[in-house]
Amino acid sequence: MNDMTLTDWQAKAAALSIEGRAFVDGVYRDASGSRTFDCKSPIDGRVLARVADCGEAEVDFAVEAARRAFDERTWCGLDPRRRKAILLRWAASIRAHLDELALLETLDAGKPIGDTTTVDVPGAAYCVEWFAEAIDKIGGEVAPADQHLVGLVTREPIGVVAAVVPWNFPILMAAWKFAPALAVGNSVVLKPSEKSPLTAIRIAQLAHEAGIPAGVFNVLPGGGEAGKLLALHRDVDCIAFTGSTKVGKLIMQYAGQSNLKRVWLELGGKSPNIVLADCPDLDRAAKAAAGAIFYNMGEMCTAGSRLLVARGIKEAFLDKLVRAAAGYRPGNPLDPRTSMGAIIDRAQFDRVLSYIEDGRKEASLLLGGEAASVVSGGLYVEPTIFDEVRHDAGIAREEIFGPVLSVIAFDTVDEAVRIANDTEYGLAAAVWTSDLTTAHEVSRRLRAGTVWVNCYDEGGDMNFPFGGYRQSGNGRDKSLHALEKYTELKSTLLRLR
Ligand code: NAP
Ligand code: MG
Repeated sequence: MNDMTLTDWQAKAAALSIEGRAFVDGVYRDASGSRTFDCKSPIDGRVLARVADCGEAEVDFAVEAARRAFDERTWCGLDPRRRKAILLRWAASIRAHLDELALLETLDAGKPIGDTTTVDVPGAAYCVEWFAEAIDKIGGEVAPADQHLVGLVTREPIGVVAAVVPWNFPILMAAWKFAPALAVGNSVVLKPSEKSPLTAIRIAQLAHEAGIPAGVFNVLPGGGEAGKLLALHRDVDCIAFTGSTKVGKLIMQYAGQSNLKRVWLELGGKSPNIVLADCPDLDRAAKAAAGAIFYNMGEMCTAGSRLLVARGIKEAFLDKLVRAAAGYRPGNPLDPRTSMGAIIDRAQFDRVLSYIEDGRKEASLLLGGEAASVVSGGLYVEPTIFDEVRHDAGIAREEIFGPVLSVIAFDTVDEAVRIANDTEYGLAAAVWTSDLTTAHEVSRRLRAGTVWVNCYDEGGDMNFPFGGYRQSGNGRDKSLHALEKYTELKSTLLRLR
């Protein structure tokens, strides 16, 4: 597979037959009135498929199917070992369809094929495996109680879980929700972004073939309205959302307006990457800093979009950073050598360029700053670095979700921590230092759900809870803690005599 070329992938793409229907109650179905929207590729603007545009009728139908499956206990009533076996079969099938799924993801979201084949699709399969493996090993508690009582504390599936996810890691962000939710026995209705619905639609069939009963895993492609309808639905017990802080706030309101469903939010970020004067390895730090903002075109919730550098080492560090940034060049996402793919759509492209225009006024442009053209067509942006950014400038405060880095100099560790924490977000942060005490002290003071020391974006395994402080959201994906989101705690007290 590693020796596939651009031409090989293009040939595979030409031969693909793409499913665009919703998957509900075990069957692919059109939306009522056969409503569809065009699913376009950011690579060349080509229409890949006409995809079911799900609305109220489909949302109601899918939630009903999910509820029925839950009430009939076709899934939650299975022995955990049985659910594990089915989920493992599904994960194996996702791995067996690696090429096809990676290709769909690349065509649909413009991500480099070298990433979708190694990160997105295997990562989703691994996530399903991880929660499948966990589920037959976790027990409840027997609580201390009066001698005439037995007190059990158990976790039970919550019921119907809606998952609404974004386009930057379509299959992976979806898996972070549906894998733990399904593992503990819930029914799931997944709404992928209308910008990237194809892998979700495809794996629904694989789930069904692996033995997940009808109604347990449903995929409803559609726009934001479908997400809103799910969040407002009175028979959805829990909504797990990944996306922007703006929409996250709406989701909470919808829950309040309807049935107080459980709300879990993984939202935006403006993560600080702090390079202290005693950074142990400037070369490695520069490479990591470039990866932190240019990987996946900067369409990363954890993007290290604010680089805080000690003034004394700034010039030397920026030299190295610019050299490291040369490793990210926009190119055809179907070419395995491409390190940077296409921007998802025109609206996002315009948004990124408008921040770059602001940056030109607010700061000093060190690298990039232009749209890039690539022979395949599509929309691309050069890796862009602004130096001498004031930390209260728009480009340093707002999430751009593109390959645009703000460099901010500082003089003391206290100042660095203050600037790092002076944000409405709190998803991730990093600090580079040779001193163990400084590493611990600074990590403790950083208000973020993940702190990296002398690295960035490490921790691809599932053991680390992932999520944000403050307006980066609530609850955690990944790790056993994710199961808390999809279960209710129950106390059962048995009187012995
Ligand atoms: P978005 O606009 O908030 O959309 C996210 C999802 O919500 C999409 O499926 C979208 O559907 C849907 N949606 C839009 N309006 C809605 C509404 N009123 N009610 C319910 N659902 C609605 O975010 P995005 O542009 O797709 O993704 C980028 C954002 O995701 C960034 O802020 C990024 O930081 C965040 N993100 C966070 C994490 C994390 O783990 N913290 C991970 C990845 C991304 P349509 O797309 O079909 O409109
Ligand atoms: Mg698309």
